[in-house]
Amino acid sequence: MAPPQHDVIVIGAGFAGLRALHTLRSAGRRVAVLEAGDGIGGVWYFNRYPGARCDIESYDYSYSFSSELEQEWRWTQRYATQPEILRYIEHVADRFDLHRDVHLGRRVVRAQWDEAAGLWELTTEGGEHWAAAFVIWAVGNLSTTKQPELPGQADFRGRILHTARWPHADVDVTGLRVGVIGTGSSGMQSIPILAGTAAHLTVFQRTANFSVPAQHRAISGAEDAAVRADYPARRARVLASPSGLGFRPRREATVEVPEAERTAIFEQAWDGAGFGFGLAFRDLLTDQSANDLAAEFIRDKIAQIVTDPTTRELLTPRDHPFGAKRPVVDDGYYATFNRDNVSLIDIRTDPIDRLDASGIVLASGATHALDVLVLATGFDAITGSLLRPDIVGRNGLSLRQKWSAGPITYLGLGTHGFPNMFTIAGPGSPGLLINVLVGIEQHVDWIADLLADMDERGATRVEATEAAERDWGAHLLARTEQTLYPKARSYYMGDEVPGKPRVFMLYTGGLRDYRRILAECVADSYAGFEFDKD
Ligand SMILES: Cc1cc2nc3c(=O)[nH]c(=O)nc-3n(C[C@H](O)[C@H](O)[C@H](O)COP(=O)(O)OP(=O)(O)OC[C@H]3O[C@@H](n4cnc5c(N)ncnc54)[C@H](O)[C@@H]3O)c2cc1C
Repeated sequence: MAPPQHDVIVIGAGFAGLRALHTLRSAGRRVAVLEAGDGIGGVWYFNRYPGARCDIESYDYSYSFSSELEQEWRWTQRYATQPEILRYIEHVADRFDLHRDVHLGRRVVRAQWDEAAGLWELTTEGGEHWAAAFVIWAVGNLSTTKQPELPGQADFRGRILHTARWPHADVDVTGLRVGVIGTGSSGMQSIPILAGTAAHLTVFQRTANFSVPAQHRAISGAEDAAVRADYPARRARVLASPSGLGFRPRREATVEVPEAERTAIFEQAWDGAGFGFGLAFRDLLTDQSANDLAAEFIRDKIAQIVTDPTTRELLTPRDHPFGAKRPVVDDGYYATFNRDNVSLIDIRTDPIDRLDASGIVLASGATHALDVLVLATGFDAITGSLLRPDIVGRNGLSLRQKWSAGPITYLGLGTHGFPNMFTIAGPGSPGLLINVLVGIEQHVDWIADLLADMDERGATRVEATEAAERDWGAHLLARTEQTLYPKARSYYMGDEVPGKPRVFMLYTGGLRDYRRILAECVADSYAGFEFDKD
C-alpha cells in the first residue's frame, strides 16, 4: 500500500467534523474529512422539516474559536432556523477554506486498525480505500435515522417523508391530509407549522412529552451589538455553566422555596428560559419531589392551554420525570390541538397495524385517510452511527462486539483496543445532555492538544487503558444513579431501538465537572492513556 496521504481522517462533516478539520489542519496536520451525505452540515443538512431550529440560543449554539467569525456573523433569531444554521456552516466552510478537504458521498463502511503499520485503513461504500494514523469519528449523536416497522408502505398511494431526510425542494401540504407519527422534538416542532396549511393533520402519539415554550423572537440590532461587545464574557459564562447554556441553577432545593416564590420562578423560566427550564432549580433532575413540582407546573400549563378534555389528558405526560427524556422546546405545540383541523390519536392503546392504499389502519380496524405521512420517528441515538460501520481494532476486536452490552469508553474520547481512535461528543461524554456545540469544541481542542503532546513525546500511538475505562464506566454509573434519568424510557437509555442494551450512555455530571476531569487528565500527563513512548 502506498504511504497514506493523511495524518488524520475525520468521519462526518457536521459541526464536529468541520471544527476538527479546521483545528487540526491549522496545527499543520494533513486532514481529510469523509462525509456520507452530499453536503456539509450534518444534522442541519438533513433535517429540513418545517419548524426545524436549534433549542439552544443561536449565539451559544455557534463556534467560539474565532472572534472574527463571532463579530462578522449576524444571527437574526433567538433560536436560529435550520436554513440559517446551514448558511452559517457554509459561511464557516468558505471562510476557513474547509471544502477542499471534505470528500462528500463517502460513507465509511469499514475501519480496520493495522497494528504493524500503525494505521487505520478505511473503506467507503463505493469501495475506496483511505488510510491515516489517526481516525476521529465525528458521526453525530442523532444521525442514523430510525424507520418504524410499518407494514404496507408499498401499498400506500400517498407520500411518506422522514423529518431527518426531508426533501430539499419545498413540500407544500396545502389542502392535504397529513399524518405525523412521533411526538419527540422533530414532531413537536413541525406539527404547529404543518397544521397551519394542511387540510387536516392527524398526530399519532405513543408517549406524551414535556415541552416548554421557545418564546421565539427576532434579535434586534441593539441586542446583537450588546452580545458582540460581551462575547468573551458570554463564552466564559457558558463554559462555567453546567449545561453550556450560560447560566447556573438556583442553589436552593426546590421544596425549600415557599410555594408562591417557587411558582414565580417557574413562571419566569416558562416565559424565557426555553431549554433552561430544567435548570430553574439545581435538583430538578436529582430529586423526585422537586421534579414532581416542575412536572405539575407544566401539566397545569397544558391544562390551561388545551380545551378538549380527552385531548388534554392524552397530551399530559405522566409516565416519566420532567427532563429525564430530552424535553422539547416548542412554538405553539399544545395550542395547535385546539384547531379544528387537528386530531390526536393515542397509538399506545390502539397501535398502528399497517398502511393501506389510503392511509393508516389501527389495530382496532379504525382507518385514517392520508395524502402525506410524516415520520418524525427520530434516530438510533448516540451509538447508532458508531456501530453501523464495521470498526475493527487491535487483534481483530470489533467495536460492535466490545460494545454489545453498551458503549465502553474512557472519558467518552477513546476506547481500549482501538488505538489512535477518538469519538466526538459521543457515548461516555456529556453529549446530548449539554449544549452539544460546546462539547464538540471541547473535544476537538482536547484531541488537538493530545496530538501535540504526542509530537513532543515522540509518540505515535495512544490508547485508553482498560483500567481507566473501567473506572470511567463505574463513575458514569455512580453519577447516573444520583439522577432521575433511569426512570424514563429514553434514547439516553437505548430504549428507542428494540434490542439495544439498556444502559445510560452519557455523563450526567455536567459540563463544568467534565471540563475539570479532562483538565486533570491532561495535568496528570494524560493519565489513563498509554503511549508507545512516555
Ligand atoms: C433536528 C435537530 C436539532 C438539534 N438541535 C440541537 C440544539 O439546539 N442544540 C444542541 O446542542 N444540539 C442539537 N441537536 C443535536 C445535534 O446532533 C448536535 O448539536 C450537532 O449538530 C451534532 O454535530 P455533529 O457534527 O457531531 O454530528 P452531525 O451533525 O450528526 O454530523 C455527523 C455527520 O457524519 C456523517 N456520517 C455518519 N456516519 C458516517 C459514515 N459512516 N461515513 C461518513 N459519514 C458519516 C453524517 O452523514 C453527518 O453528516 C439537534 C439535533 C437534531 C437532529
